Amino acid sequence: MSGEANPFESLQSQIDEAATHLDIGADVIERLKYPERVLETNLTIERDDGELERFKAFRSQFNGDRGPYKGGIRYHPQVSRDEVKALSGWMVYKCATVGIPYGGGKGGIIIDPNEYSEAELERVTRAFATELRPLIGEDRDIPAPDVNTGQREMNWIKDTYETLENTTEPGVITGKNIASGGSEGRVEATGRSTVITAREAFDYLGKDLDGATVAVQGYGNAGWIAAKLIDEMGATVVAVSDSSGGVYNADGIDPVTVKNHKNETGSVVGFDGSETELTNEDVLTLDVDLLIPAALENAIDGDLAEQVEADVISEAANGPLTPEADAVLEEKDVFVIPDILANAGGVTVSYFEWVQNRQRFYWTEEKVNNELEELIVDAFDALVETIDEHDLDNARTAAYVVAIRRVANSFEESGSFP
Ligand code: GLU
Repeated sequence: MSGEANPFESLQSQIDEAATHLDIGADVIERLKYPERVLETNLTIERDDGELERFKAFRSQFNGDRGPYKGGIRYHPQVSRDEVKALSGWMVYKCATVGIPYGGGKGGIIIDPNEYSEAELERVTRAFATELRPLIGEDRDIPAPDVNTGQREMNWIKDTYETLENTTEPGVITGKNIASGGSEGRVEATGRSTVITAREAFDYLGKDLDGATVAVQGYGNAGWIAAKLIDEMGATVVAVSDSSGGVYNADGIDPVTVKNHKNETGSVVGFDGSETELTNEDVLTLDVDLLIPAALENAIDGDLAEQVEADVISEAANGPLTPEADAVLEEKDVFVIPDILANAGGVTVSYFEWVQNRQRFYWTEEKVNNELEELIVDAFDALVETIDEHDLDNARTAAYVVAIRRVANSFEESGSFP
């Protein structure tokens, strides 16, 4: 997380903004702005050299009105309690926006995974899974990958949980590898929804995606897949970046070749198909048709937003725009596809994975992608309807209007306990 904005306060201001367009009591809205509970725990493991080291970790269960808590686990040195709370809230409204039967949760460990061996990471992960065991379960809370975690960590968590519980319960976690009960298409799903929603937005705005220029900030799982898929749709990726910097070529950059370069050298920087090297800020302010922020929160604040020249932004990352940036971009007529829809493909295919795990019946990649396509397009259509119905200029507000209404309905229908 960079910049000054506190992501938890950003989440709350997004909810408040949407609430002004909804006929829902302030008491109910208040309830929807805070996590139900947050676990804070300390994990002590043995380093390879025999020394002990302690890591702080969190799991926030934000809201369970619509189903089990759902959301990833992040490994990053800048993880904080407020960041995890915000991310868990965004999961609630993400799942509600696309209409999948989950609440929202999120977890994180304050750790830079690059500094530790695989065996050390396994011990940290299994220690966290042990702490999480009483809180998670396929009907209770279902973790998944997030920044710096993936199939490997999910498999360790599943194995730890199943061993301690003396059961088989693959649906306790999603984002596993295929051999451990993962789903086809899950790895690509976040990037896929980012580009499906971009395609729908271009269509809605009467713009042509074919030949459109694209910049991608962040070249992890979400960013690189989004770059690859948008290139396949006929757009031209002119710039990509990662935490070390960016590369640019007006004639286009081949997403797969840059990815190979990053795999070999650790960064996109130094790629020989690049005309000019750029900073992350340069990439975010390029004059392109589509900008895809795919790194961390607060990538664009109010000041930087003044310099943004993209026409459409599809948020592959969670919370890449501060509320101030949002206001500036709304003023500049930039169409922002909010994170809670744009990157919802990840949790949507997690849902498909969980359904397959529970049925012990597995789908083809084609079926997964077709179901994802249909669900995301339907969610985009509902968003556009809400924009029109409430005469909104901000698609994020429209998404929250849809989502808050759904969460509040579940709460009001079930009543309050105690
Ligand atoms: N971490 C991803 C997200 O922020 C995926 C969560 C999930 O699959 O549960 O949406």
